[in-house]
Amino acid sequence: MYYNETIIPQGGSNLKITAFYFAALEYYVCIDCGYVESYITNPNKLQKIHEKWAKVKN
Ligand SMILES: [Zn+2]
Repeated sequence: MYYNETIIPQGGSNLKITAFYFAALEYYVCIDCGYVESYITNPNKLQKIHEKWAKVKN
């Protein structure tokens, strides 16, 4: 897996949380098959999602 620590402040790699609130994503990429994982590492952004998004029911 390869890791890109570059965070683009308002670029396409941001996840939209609300209309005006975005979280930067960090990506991990497997160069054998192209699989991509993305993570939010800022705990404040995760808290915002907890407040704003609907919880998935099991
Ligand atoms: Zn792979």
